[in-house]
Amino acid sequence: MADTESIVREETPNAVIERAKKFLREGCGCSPGSKGGPCSREFREETVLFNLNNCLELTSGELDLIILANIQAFTRNDYVGTKRNGTSRCTYQFQSVLICKEMFLHLYGISYSRLRRLKEHYETHGIYPRTHGNTKRLPSNTLPQSTTENVHNFLTNYVEENAFVLPGRIPGFKSEDVKVPEIPVGEDVIRTCVTPRKVQSVYATLQKEKERHRCAVKLLPYFFSDEELKGSNTDGTHGKHPLDSSKLNSLRVLVFSKFPVECTTERDKLWKQIKAKINDRCRAIKYAKRAN
Ligand SMILES: [Zn+2]
Repeated sequence: MADTESIVREETPNAVIERAKKFLREGCGCSPGSKGGPCSREFREETVLFNLNNCLELTSGELDLIILANIQAFTRNDYVGTKRNGTSRCTYQFQSVLICKEMFLHLYGISYSRLRRLKEHYETHGIYPRTHGNTKRLPSNTLPQSTTENVHNFLTNYVEENAFVLPGRIPGFKSEDVKVPEIPVGEDVIRTCVTPRKVQSVYATLQKEKERHRCAVKLLPYFFSDEELKGSNTDGTHGKHPLDSSKLNSLRVLVFSKFPVECTTERDKLWKQIKAKINDRCRAIKYAKRAN
């Protein structure tokens, strides 16, 4: 019996299972069984191990709640939520069979002290999750801040000295627009985006422009007429018409073929900025037309 008291939470699942097997082989020594035998004889080993394995897969909090529900089912106590006076008696069952406490501990893979703590917890709080007592103190394996900073500095220095810098990029600058790598856009790509008549002029525009946002605005006339632009914006907000989304997408393809961006979130962010420039352009055309 003292054996079970020494079961600690940190035990490996395999050790808990081995201990349960040994317990079943030797028998628990109690005698509430149907023929006066020990309760451990009432169950097949597979049944016990199946339940135990399930419990070992649970998180500590989940298992706590299961034990608390069992305690509630088997404890007669009218004073839950008040300070207890004397220990309430608890008889355990598994699949409607009366079992001893030792058997219960092995069925759920918990230690005697954990059961005792949960009983105390139940008497005050009822079925309610236990919070970890140690929420403010740092874990024992936490490294001092200075160590983490040293590692960070080392890695940063190492990267600066050894990393391969992308063509056109300046080391130490994260911004894509400091100097953007540009790639000549092939005619085949352009052909998929605009009508054949426009391919040559789009090709020339793409060659000439050195800046992503400007490039996008310069390409606008190949996709939209001034009439379309002046009454619209990219998303059809503020009561305007939305610009044709497939044309917009072709423009986007051309811009990012010329000025590629690996990261999709970064690309989405840049596209948003480009759309703002396009909308500026739409407004400018509208006011220019009005002035004329
Ligand atoms: Zn027993």
